[in-house]
Amino acid sequence: MSNPSLLILPGDGIGPEVMAEVRRIIDWFGAKRDLAFDVSEDLVGGAAYDAHGTPLHDDTMARAQEADAVLLGAVGGPKYDDLDFSVKPERGLLRLRKEMDLFSNLRPAQCFDALADFSSLKRDVVSGLDIMIVRELTSGSYFGEPRGIFEENGERVGINTQRYTTSEIRRVARSAFELARRRGNKVCSMEKANVMESGILWREEVTWVHQNEYPDVELSHMYADAGAMQLCRWPKQFDVILTDNLFGDLLSDTAAMLTGSLGMLPSASLGAPMENGRPKALYEPVHGSAPDIAGQGKANPIACVLSFAMALRYSFDQGAEADRLEQAVERTLAAGARTGDLMGPEGGTPLSTSEMGDAILKE
Ligand code: ATP
Ligand code: MG
Repeated sequence: MSNPSLLILPGDGIGPEVMAEVRRIIDWFGAKRDLAFDVSEDLVGGAAYDAHGTPLHDDTMARAQEADAVLLGAVGGPKYDDLDFSVKPERGLLRLRKEMDLFSNLRPAQCFDALADFSSLKRDVVSGLDIMIVRELTSGSYFGEPRGIFEENGERVGINTQRYTTSEIRRVARSAFELARRRGNKVCSMEKANVMESGILWREEVTWVHQNEYPDVELSHMYADAGAMQLCRWPKQFDVILTDNLFGDLLSDTAAMLTGSLGMLPSASLGAPMENGRPKALYEPVHGSAPDIAGQGKANPIACVLSFAMALRYSFDQGAEADRLEQAVERTLAAGARTGDLMGPEGGTPLSTSEMGDAILKE
């Protein structure tokens, strides 16, 4: 049998820097855990534009469709600010998400004990926090028609349409219930069924999937505004939060700040199951290309490392190895290793990107 395939797209800015540390960890799994991957690398974003005049070459797109999983660093940077919209680095990433039809965006918010004092909330509220936000990514008000800015009765009107179909809601709901079964077995679905028809349909369809396919998972519903409040008040009450594209955008950024630095946050975007039963998948850190620190060896590689841990878990069926990697990160932090983004005003000498990579490998 051939090894599982992993397409790596380091991208721009700190993308290649953090990805270099992940490459070392991937090599470690091959050498020490007998877990080898067929790794190939390609260009995306500004790097692809520089080489091919497009932020995502068709060949790269085809390779992404073929791969068991794609791991991406970051795209964009000031160098590309004046480019035409159609070739902007971000368009490369959007094309990947769209053509792979990655409708389910997973954003874990996990608070490592060593960083609990970094949260915007009190230590006892966040310490040990481990929740997962599942955000619908390919529909809703970011895509619904009609949309645009129009003239009407002598003034301008901006229109977006919140639109969801049964199948769009059911498929992302299934992805949330599947996840819950592997975690705390609880899903809380958030919408605004009190004021929005799309919210009423959302609630009905999620309930349908629950009753017919996942009755063993505990399901609750919350209005998204109340959910936002509860997320800040007592986030540990949640396990999996299931929500739409717009509310998910807000709620996942809110949850992110419970945990400390942007340099710590991984994500996965999943699509429909492939022939092997696993979903199409793209893994990437939540952070961007961080032009202010790019090229200086200061970036925290942990978000990208944890994105690879998600790939181990969700694309390669290696949950125990994913745990192993996450525990190594936890021990690394507990031992006091910090990149600059994880340091408070008391100062000290931060580790470089590769020193943080060394520390994780050692653990
Ligand atoms: P994008 O538009 O690509 O999402 P952004 O403007 O939202 O980018 P980021 O590139 O994510 O922002 O960076 C935001 C801030 O967080 C910057 O000051 C950056 O230096 C810092 N930052 C982001 N990622 C990391 C990281 N891995 N390690 C350290 N600092 C980081
Ligand atoms: Mg951003």
